[in-house]
Amino acid sequence: MKYNIKKIGVLTSGGDSPGMNAAIRAVVRSSVYHNLECVGIYRGYEGLIEGDFKALNARSVKNLINRGGTFLKSARSPEFRTKEGRKIAFNNLKEAEIDALVVIGGDGTFSGAIAFLEEYDIPVIGLPGTIDNDINGTDYTIGYDTALNTVVSAIDKIRDTAHSHNRIFLVEVMGRDAGDLALSAGIGSGAEVILIPEQNMGRERLVESLKRNKKSGKTSSIVVVSEGDKVGKNIFDVAEYIENNLKGYEVRVTVLGHVQRGGTPSCRDRVFASRLGVSAIDALLRGETNVMVGINNNKIVSVPFTDAIKGDNEIDTDLLRVADITSI
Ligand code: ATP
Repeated sequence: MKYNIKKIGVLTSGGDSPGMNAAIRAVVRSSVYHNLECVGIYRGYEGLIEGDFKALNARSVKNLINRGGTFLKSARSPEFRTKEGRKIAFNNLKEAEIDALVVIGGDGTFSGAIAFLEEYDIPVIGLPGTIDNDINGTDYTIGYDTALNTVVSAIDKIRDTAHSHNRIFLVEVMGRDAGDLALSAGIGSGAEVILIPEQNMGRERLVESLKRNKKSGKTSSIVVVSEGDKVGKNIFDVAEYIENNLKGYEVRVTVLGHVQRGGTPSCRDRVFASRLGVSAIDALLRGETNVMVGINNNKIVSVPFTDAIKGDNEIDTDLLRVADITSI
């Protein structure tokens, strides 16, 4: 075995997501199970540079599995993007005798790990923690399921008022580059139209589709709009276009914003995060590095960081078809 691992550092980085606490808990307890020491690094790469470390034991992570956010806190660290910043980070790890890292975050977090590993030889394993589900090589990311449920329950409430007033509601959900959240939440909430960044429907077709809904007897419509959708400059611009081109409806906009990130993690996210946390330590003990541990067809897989962050998000065409058919 190339690496002799005795002490593991764990951090959360980028946007927080529900289930990150469950993942940290599993990393800590799996370390303890394997007689390894575990150190929590606060505020992601920022805390790595500042040496903001705290030893964790099995009891340090009690009462956490049910809490959203991340008790280690998260941050965006411009300094970690510099060679100098990463050098300080590495020296801090050496000084604290940390032999390996588990980083929980999104594609930016993995890009940071790649940059770090080009310069320093220390094993690093990543876990996908983001509500966007925009990481390659894993079917799900930690927090995605909880965010979906949050969005669907918000749209259920909006539907009540849309239906009572013959309104068209545009609901913006998170996803600058990936429409997974919008598409699944749209199907799950019975939305009439779903706008995603991967597929530009165009304003005219959008209005045509809403007109068809009206003709087919619908008195209100829900349009789920991904943040990164390109139909208009922004959701308010799309709303104005609809109002000007489709008479007989009031158009309202709801931007769900950060409520989508918070809240009690779903059971699915807790179990998923626990599986990944345990698997991260297994991967380190097998001598792996430079990989994300994810899930594919319900099997734990290791995916090189470079593949995990690769390319454009691919949308599930089967789900698009389901959305089209079930919204007539
Ligand atoms: P989310 O998907 O929720 O936004 P993320 O992990 O993609 O999460 P980012 O803010 O993009 O979040 O990245 C987290 C941190 O990773 C950055 O603040 C930065 O410190 C580090 N990082 C990102 N890209 C690089 C890079 N190319 N080189 C070095 N560090 C990077």
